[in-house]
Amino acid sequence: MTRRSEPLPFGATIGILGGGQLGRMSAHAAARLGYRTHVYTPEQGSPGGEVASTVTVAAFDDAAALRGFCAQVDVVTFEFENIPPAVLDLLDETGVACRPGTAVLRIGQDRVLEKRFLGRMGIEVAPWGVVEKLGDLAAIPFPAVLKTTRLGYDGRGQARVANMAEAEAGFARLAPHPLVWEAYMPFALEISAVAARGMDGAMAVYDITENIHRHHILDQSIVPARISAETRAVAEANIRRLLEGLDMVGVLALEMFVMEGGEVIANEIAPRPHNSGHWTMDACQVSQFDQHIRAVAGLPVIQPRRHADVVMDNLVGPEGAARWDAALADPAAVPHWYGKADVRPGRKLGHVNRLTGRG
Ligand code: ADP
Ligand code: MG
Repeated sequence: MTRRSEPLPFGATIGILGGGQLGRMSAHAAARLGYRTHVYTPEQGSPGGEVASTVTVAAFDDAAALRGFCAQVDVVTFEFENIPPAVLDLLDETGVACRPGTAVLRIGQDRVLEKRFLGRMGIEVAPWGVVEKLGDLAAIPFPAVLKTTRLGYDGRGQARVANMAEAEAGFARLAPHPLVWEAYMPFALEISAVAARGMDGAMAVYDITENIHRHHILDQSIVPARISAETRAVAEANIRRLLEGLDMVGVLALEMFVMEGGEVIANEIAPRPHNSGHWTMDACQVSQFDQHIRAVAGLPVIQPRRHADVVMDNLVGPEGAARWDAALADPAAVPHWYGKADVRPGRKLGHVNRLTGRG
Protein backbone atom coordinates (compact mmCIF):
# COMPACT_ATOMS: atom_id res chain seq x y z
CA MET A 1 0.00 0.00 0.00
CA THR A 2 1.36 3.42 -0.80
CA ARG A 3 0.12 6.62 0.76
CA ARG A 4 0.54 10.20 -0.18
CA SER A 5 0.75 12.83 2.42
CA GLU A 6 2.38 16.19 2.87
CA PRO A 7 5.80 16.08 4.51
CA LEU A 8 5.99 17.45 8.04
CA PRO A 9 6.72 21.18 7.90
CA PHE A 10 9.96 22.60 9.31
CA GLY A 11 9.72 22.90 13.07
CA ALA A 12 7.27 20.00 13.44
CA THR A 13 7.95 17.65 16.34
CA ILE A 14 8.92 14.02 15.97
CA GLY A 15 8.22 12.01 19.12
CA ILE A 16 10.72 9.26 19.86
CA LEU A 17 9.79 6.49 22.26
CA GLY A 18 12.95 5.41 24.05
CA GLY A 19 15.99 7.32 25.23
CA GLY A 20 18.91 5.21 24.02
CA GLN A 21 21.68 5.94 21.54
CA LEU A 22 19.51 5.18 18.52
CA GLY A 23 17.16 7.95 19.62
CA ARG A 24 20.12 10.24 20.21
CA MET A 25 21.46 9.76 16.70
CA SER A 26 17.94 10.04 15.23
CA ALA A 27 17.45 13.32 17.09
CA HIS A 28 20.69 14.68 15.61
CA ALA A 29 19.48 13.75 12.13
CA ALA A 30 16.07 15.30 12.79
CA ALA A 31 17.64 18.58 13.89
CA ARG A 32 19.68 18.74 10.68
CA LEU A 33 16.50 18.31 8.66
CA GLY A 34 14.74 21.10 10.53
CA TYR A 35 12.63 19.14 12.99
CA ARG A 36 12.22 19.20 16.73
CA THR A 37 12.30 15.98 18.73
CA HIS A 38 10.53 14.95 21.90
CA VAL A 39 12.00 11.91 23.62
CA TYR A 40 9.89 9.82 26.00
CA THR A 41 12.00 7.70 28.33
CA PRO A 42 11.84 6.34 31.87
CA GLU A 43 15.52 7.23 32.32
CA GLN A 44 16.93 10.51 33.71
CA GLY A 45 19.90 11.82 31.72
CA SER A 46 19.42 9.38 28.85
CA PRO A 47 21.56 9.48 25.66
CA GLY A 48 18.53 10.51 23.59
CA GLY A 49 17.06 12.87 26.16
CA GLU A 50 20.35 14.79 26.36
CA VAL A 51 20.08 15.94 22.73
CA ALA A 52 16.31 16.12 22.13
CA SER A 53 14.40 19.42 22.00
CA THR A 54 12.03 18.19 24.74
CA VAL A 55 12.12 15.22 27.11
CA THR A 56 9.42 13.49 29.08
CA VAL A 57 10.89 11.32 31.82
CA ALA A 58 8.10 8.97 32.85
CA ALA A 59 7.40 5.26 33.12
CA PHE A 60 5.92 3.37 30.20
CA ASP A 61 2.89 2.55 32.36
CA ASP A 62 2.16 6.23 33.03
CA ALA A 63 -0.87 6.60 30.75
CA ALA A 64 -1.37 10.29 31.53
CA ALA A 65 2.23 11.11 30.62
CA LEU A 66 1.96 9.06 27.44
CA ARG A 67 -1.22 10.85 26.40
CA GLY A 68 0.43 14.18 27.08
CA PHE A 69 3.38 13.15 24.91
CA CYS A 70 1.07 12.07 22.06
CA ALA A 71 -0.75 15.41 22.22
CA GLN A 72 2.53 17.32 21.87
CA VAL A 73 4.06 15.55 18.87
CA ASP A 74 3.18 15.40 15.18
CA VAL A 75 4.30 11.81 14.68
CA VAL A 76 5.66 9.03 16.89
CA THR A 77 8.59 6.77 16.08
CA PHE A 78 10.49 4.18 18.10
CA GLU A 79 14.12 3.67 18.97
CA PHE A 80 13.75 0.18 20.43
CA GLU A 81 11.25 -2.55 19.71
CA ASN A 82 10.46 -3.73 23.21
CA ILE A 83 7.78 -1.11 23.74
CA PRO A 84 5.24 -2.65 26.17
CA PRO A 85 2.11 -3.85 24.33
CA ALA A 86 -0.09 -1.65 26.54
CA VAL A 87 1.79 1.39 25.22
CA LEU A 88 1.13 0.28 21.64
CA ASP A 89 -2.56 -0.11 22.53
CA LEU A 90 -2.61 3.40 23.94
CA LEU A 91 -0.94 4.82 20.83
CA ASP A 92 -3.56 3.11 18.65
CA GLU A 93 -6.33 4.49 20.83
CA THR A 94 -5.07 8.08 20.67
CA GLY A 95 -4.88 7.90 16.89
CA VAL A 96 -1.46 9.60 16.85
CA ALA A 97 0.46 8.89 13.62
CA CYS A 98 3.01 6.12 14.26
CA ARG A 99 5.77 5.39 11.77
CA PRO A 100 6.39 2.56 11.48
CA GLY A 101 2.89 1.42 12.46
CA THR A 102 2.32 -0.32 15.77
CA ALA A 103 1.57 -3.61 13.97
CA VAL A 104 5.21 -3.76 12.85
CA LEU A 105 6.36 -3.29 16.44
CA ARG A 106 4.08 -6.07 17.62
CA ILE A 107 5.73 -8.47 15.18
CA GLY A 108 9.29 -7.30 15.86
CA GLN A 109 9.03 -7.73 19.63
CA ASP A 110 7.78 -11.31 19.60
CA ARG A 111 10.04 -14.03 18.22
CA VAL A 112 7.10 -16.33 17.48
CA LEU A 113 5.20 -13.72 15.43
CA GLU A 114 8.47 -12.68 13.80
CA LYS A 115 9.40 -16.20 12.70
CA ARG A 116 5.89 -16.91 11.45
CA PHE A 117 5.97 -13.67 9.49
CA LEU A 118 9.36 -14.46 7.98
CA GLY A 119 8.02 -17.87 7.01
CA ARG A 120 4.95 -16.33 5.35
CA MET A 121 7.28 -14.04 3.40
CA GLY A 122 9.10 -17.11 2.09
CA ILE A 123 12.27 -16.25 3.99
CA GLU A 124 14.14 -19.19 5.46
CA VAL A 125 14.74 -19.32 9.23
CA ALA A 126 16.48 -21.92 11.42
CA PRO A 127 14.28 -24.87 12.47
CA TRP A 128 12.43 -23.69 15.57
CA GLY A 129 9.56 -24.40 17.95
CA VAL A 130 7.70 -22.90 20.88
CA VAL A 131 8.51 -24.05 24.44
CA GLU A 132 5.61 -23.46 26.79
CA LYS A 133 6.19 -26.38 29.14
CA LEU A 134 9.02 -28.76 30.04
CA GLY A 135 7.59 -31.46 27.78
CA ASP A 136 8.10 -29.23 24.72
CA LEU A 137 11.87 -29.63 25.18
CA ALA A 138 11.57 -33.18 23.80
CA ALA A 139 11.26 -31.77 20.27
CA ILE A 140 14.64 -30.00 20.33
CA PRO A 141 17.36 -31.23 17.95
CA PHE A 142 20.58 -30.52 19.89
CA PRO A 143 22.65 -28.38 19.78
CA ALA A 144 20.13 -25.56 19.98
CA VAL A 145 19.58 -22.09 21.39
CA LEU A 146 16.75 -21.32 23.82
CA LYS A 147 15.50 -17.75 23.66
CA THR A 148 12.82 -15.80 25.45
CA THR A 149 10.02 -14.87 23.05
CA ARG A 150 10.01 -11.29 24.24
CA LEU A 151 12.42 -8.71 25.71
CA GLY A 152 15.69 -10.21 24.47
CA TYR A 153 18.58 -8.01 23.31
CA ASP A 154 22.36 -8.26 23.04
CA GLY A 155 22.12 -11.98 23.75
CA ARG A 156 20.15 -11.48 26.98
CA GLY A 157 17.41 -14.04 27.44
CA GLN A 158 19.30 -16.79 25.61
CA ALA A 159 21.00 -20.08 26.42
CA ARG A 160 22.97 -22.35 24.12
CA VAL A 161 22.04 -25.91 25.01
CA ALA A 162 23.78 -29.13 23.92
CA ASN A 163 21.62 -31.69 25.73
CA MET A 164 18.41 -32.19 27.70
CA ALA A 165 19.97 -31.37 31.09
CA GLU A 166 21.16 -28.00 29.77
CA ALA A 167 17.80 -27.39 28.12
CA GLU A 168 16.00 -28.01 31.43
CA ALA A 169 18.39 -25.65 33.22
CA GLY A 170 17.83 -23.04 30.52
CA PHE A 171 14.07 -23.45 30.76
CA ALA A 172 14.26 -22.86 34.52
CA ARG A 173 16.56 -19.85 34.23
CA LEU A 174 15.10 -17.91 31.30
CA ALA A 175 12.11 -15.65 31.76
CA PRO A 176 9.54 -14.64 30.80
CA HIS A 177 8.03 -17.79 29.29
CA PRO A 178 7.14 -18.98 26.69
CA LEU A 179 10.52 -19.58 25.10
CA VAL A 180 11.45 -20.61 21.59
CA TRP A 181 14.11 -23.12 20.63
CA GLU A 182 16.14 -22.70 17.49
CA ALA A 183 18.52 -25.21 15.95
CA TYR A 184 22.09 -23.99 16.48
CA MET A 185 23.33 -22.74 13.10
CA PRO A 186 27.06 -23.33 12.53
CA PHE A 187 27.24 -20.30 10.28
CA ALA A 188 30.28 -19.17 8.28
CA LEU A 189 29.46 -15.55 8.99
CA GLU A 190 26.73 -13.16 10.05
CA ILE A 191 25.42 -10.37 7.86
CA SER A 192 22.69 -7.79 8.02
CA ALA A 193 20.67 -5.74 5.62
CA VAL A 194 19.65 -2.22 6.59
CA ALA A 195 17.14 -0.43 4.39
CA ALA A 196 14.58 2.34 4.45
CA ARG A 197 11.13 2.70 2.94
CA GLY A 198 9.37 6.00 2.52
CA MET A 199 5.67 6.82 2.75
CA ASP A 200 5.46 6.64 -1.04
CA GLY A 201 6.76 3.06 -0.99
CA ALA A 202 10.21 3.94 -2.39
CA MET A 203 13.01 1.81 -0.94
CA ALA A 204 16.70 2.45 -0.29
CA VAL A 205 18.94 -0.51 0.56
CA TYR A 206 22.41 -0.10 2.04
CA ASP A 207 25.33 -2.36 1.16
CA ILE A 208 25.09 -5.65 3.02
CA THR A 209 27.13 -5.59 6.24
CA GLU A 210 29.24 -8.35 7.75
CA ASN A 211 28.90 -8.55 11.53
CA ILE A 212 31.16 -10.05 14.17
CA HIS A 213 29.70 -10.62 17.62
CA ARG A 214 31.58 -11.05 20.91
CA HIS A 215 29.74 -12.44 23.93
CA HIS A 216 26.52 -12.14 21.83
CA ILE A 217 27.04 -8.37 21.43
CA LEU A 218 27.88 -6.79 18.08
CA ASP A 219 31.61 -6.04 18.12
CA GLN A 220 32.46 -5.10 14.57
CA SER A 221 30.68 -4.40 11.27
CA ILE A 222 32.64 -4.68 8.03
CA VAL A 223 31.60 -3.16 4.71
CA PRO A 224 31.71 -4.49 2.11
CA ALA A 225 30.79 -7.90 3.53
CA ARG A 226 32.97 -10.78 2.33
CA ILE A 227 30.13 -12.64 0.59
CA SER A 228 29.36 -13.89 -2.89
CA ALA A 229 27.19 -12.01 -5.37
CA GLU A 230 24.51 -14.71 -4.95
CA THR A 231 24.42 -14.33 -1.16
CA ARG A 232 24.25 -10.57 -1.55
CA ALA A 233 21.34 -10.87 -3.98
CA VAL A 234 19.37 -13.11 -1.57
CA ALA A 235 20.00 -10.76 1.35
CA GLU A 236 18.85 -7.74 -0.65
CA ALA A 237 15.78 -9.53 -1.97
CA ASN A 238 14.87 -10.54 1.59
CA ILE A 239 14.94 -7.00 2.96
CA ARG A 240 12.94 -5.61 0.04
CA ARG A 241 10.29 -8.28 0.51
CA LEU A 242 10.08 -7.51 4.23
CA LEU A 243 9.86 -3.74 3.74
CA GLU A 244 6.87 -4.27 1.47
CA GLY A 245 5.31 -7.09 3.47
CA LEU A 246 5.36 -4.96 6.63
CA ASP A 247 4.25 -1.82 4.75
CA MET A 248 7.24 -0.37 6.52
CA VAL A 249 7.80 3.36 6.91
CA GLY A 250 11.28 4.01 8.28
CA VAL A 251 14.40 1.92 8.64
CA LEU A 252 14.29 -1.85 8.94
CA ALA A 253 17.18 -4.21 9.64
CA LEU A 254 17.37 -7.94 9.01
CA GLU A 255 20.05 -10.06 10.71
CA MET A 256 21.05 -13.19 8.80
CA PHE A 257 23.40 -16.17 9.07
CA VAL A 258 25.39 -17.24 6.00
CA MET A 259 26.11 -20.96 6.00
CA GLU A 260 29.29 -22.57 4.62
CA GLY A 261 27.58 -23.29 1.28
CA GLY A 262 26.29 -19.72 0.96
CA GLU A 263 22.74 -20.45 2.14
CA VAL A 264 21.13 -17.47 3.87
CA ILE A 265 19.11 -18.04 7.07
CA ALA A 266 17.21 -15.12 8.59
CA ASN A 267 17.77 -14.57 12.32
CA GLU A 268 15.72 -11.57 13.40
CA ILE A 269 14.34 -8.23 12.28
CA ALA A 270 14.52 -4.81 13.92
CA PRO A 271 12.05 -2.15 12.73
CA ARG A 272 14.39 0.75 13.50
CA PRO A 273 17.91 1.99 12.82
CA HIS A 274 20.31 -0.79 13.76
CA ASN A 275 23.76 -1.01 15.33
CA SER A 276 25.04 -2.74 12.19
CA GLY A 277 24.05 0.35 10.17
CA HIS A 278 26.11 2.86 12.15
CA TRP A 279 28.83 2.79 9.47
CA THR A 280 26.40 4.65 7.17
CA MET A 281 26.93 7.80 9.29
CA ASP A 282 30.41 8.37 7.91
CA ALA A 283 30.75 6.22 4.78
CA CYS A 284 27.62 7.42 2.94
CA GLN A 285 26.10 10.72 1.93
CA VAL A 286 22.91 9.75 3.79
CA SER A 287 22.94 7.81 7.06
CA GLN A 288 20.39 5.30 8.32
CA PHE A 289 19.27 7.94 10.84
CA ASP A 290 18.77 10.53 8.09
CA GLN A 291 16.73 7.99 6.12
CA HIS A 292 14.66 7.05 9.15
CA ILE A 293 13.78 10.65 9.89
CA ARG A 294 13.13 11.36 6.20
CA ALA A 295 10.69 8.44 6.02
CA VAL A 296 8.97 9.30 9.30
CA ALA A 297 8.61 12.93 8.22
CA GLY A 298 7.21 12.01 4.82
CA LEU A 299 10.31 13.22 2.98
CA PRO A 300 11.84 11.14 0.18
CA VAL A 301 14.31 8.39 1.10
CA ILE A 302 17.24 8.47 -1.31
CA GLN A 303 19.62 5.94 -2.81
CA PRO A 304 22.67 5.71 -0.56
CA ARG A 305 26.10 6.23 -2.11
CA ARG A 306 29.01 4.76 -0.21
CA HIS A 307 32.25 6.67 -0.66
CA ALA A 308 34.55 4.49 1.45
CA ASP A 309 35.07 0.99 2.73
CA VAL A 310 34.51 1.01 6.46
CA VAL A 311 34.90 -0.97 9.66
CA MET A 312 32.72 -0.02 12.62
CA ASP A 313 33.99 -0.94 16.08
CA ASN A 314 31.58 -0.87 18.98
CA LEU A 315 32.94 0.52 22.22
CA VAL A 316 31.51 -1.85 24.83
CA GLY A 317 32.04 -1.59 28.58
CA PRO A 318 35.24 -0.40 30.31
CA GLU A 319 37.52 -1.93 27.65
CA GLY A 320 35.60 -0.08 24.95
CA ALA A 321 35.89 3.19 26.85
CA ALA A 322 39.66 2.64 27.06
CA ARG A 323 39.85 2.78 23.24
CA TRP A 324 38.36 6.28 23.02
CA ASP A 325 41.62 8.26 23.18
CA ALA A 326 43.20 6.22 20.37
CA ALA A 327 40.09 6.73 18.24
CA LEU A 328 40.26 10.49 18.80
CA ALA A 329 43.86 10.56 17.57
CA ASP A 330 43.28 8.44 14.45
CA PRO A 331 42.71 10.57 11.33
CA ALA A 332 40.91 7.67 9.60
CA ALA A 333 38.46 7.22 12.48
CA VAL A 334 35.19 8.99 13.27
CA PRO A 335 34.33 8.45 16.94
CA HIS A 336 30.77 8.64 18.33
CA TRP A 337 30.06 8.78 22.08
CA TYR A 338 26.58 8.13 23.45
CA GLY A 339 26.82 10.02 26.73
CA LYS A 340 25.62 7.19 28.98
CA ALA A 341 25.56 7.95 32.66
CA ASP A 342 27.85 5.08 33.65
CA VAL A 343 30.33 2.63 32.20
CA ARG A 344 29.20 -0.91 32.89
CA PRO A 345 30.47 -4.19 31.41
CA GLY A 346 28.48 -5.21 28.33
CA ARG A 347 27.09 -1.71 27.78
CA LYS A 348 27.39 -0.07 24.38
CA LEU A 349 29.04 3.29 25.09
CA GLY A 350 29.94 4.47 21.61
CA HIS A 351 31.30 3.37 18.27
CA VAL A 352 34.08 4.28 15.89
CA ASN A 353 33.84 4.24 12.10
CA ARG A 354 37.21 3.62 10.51
CA LEU A 355 37.23 4.50 6.83
CA THR A 356 39.62 2.07 5.21
CA GLY A 357 39.64 2.92 1.54
CA ARG A 358 37.55 4.05 -1.36
CA GLY A 359 34.14 2.41 -1.79
P1 ADP B 1 19.50 -10.49 20.21
O1 ADP B 1 18.07 -10.06 20.25
O2 ADP B 1 20.12 -10.54 21.53
O3 ADP B 1 20.30 -9.76 19.16
P2 ADP B 1 19.83 -12.81 18.49
O4 ADP B 1 18.79 -13.82 18.24
O5 ADP B 1 20.19 -11.92 17.36
O6 ADP B 1 19.41 -12.01 19.79
O7 ADP B 1 21.15 -13.56 18.98
C1 ADP B 1 22.36 -12.88 19.27
C2 ADP B 1 23.53 -13.62 18.63
O8 ADP B 1 23.61 -14.97 19.11
C3 ADP B 1 23.41 -13.78 17.11
O9 ADP B 1 23.83 -12.61 16.42
C4 ADP B 1 24.31 -14.99 16.88
O10 ADP B 1 25.67 -14.63 16.94
C5 ADP B 1 23.99 -15.87 18.07
N1 ADP B 1 22.87 -16.77 17.74
C6 ADP B 1 21.56 -16.53 17.94
N2 ADP B 1 20.78 -17.55 17.50
C7 ADP B 1 21.61 -18.46 16.98
C8 ADP B 1 21.42 -19.74 16.34
N3 ADP B 1 20.20 -20.28 16.17
N4 ADP B 1 22.52 -20.41 15.92
C9 ADP B 1 23.76 -19.87 16.10
N5 ADP B 1 24.01 -18.69 16.69
C10 ADP B 1 22.95 -17.96 17.13
MG1 MG C 1 20.26 -9.90 17.12
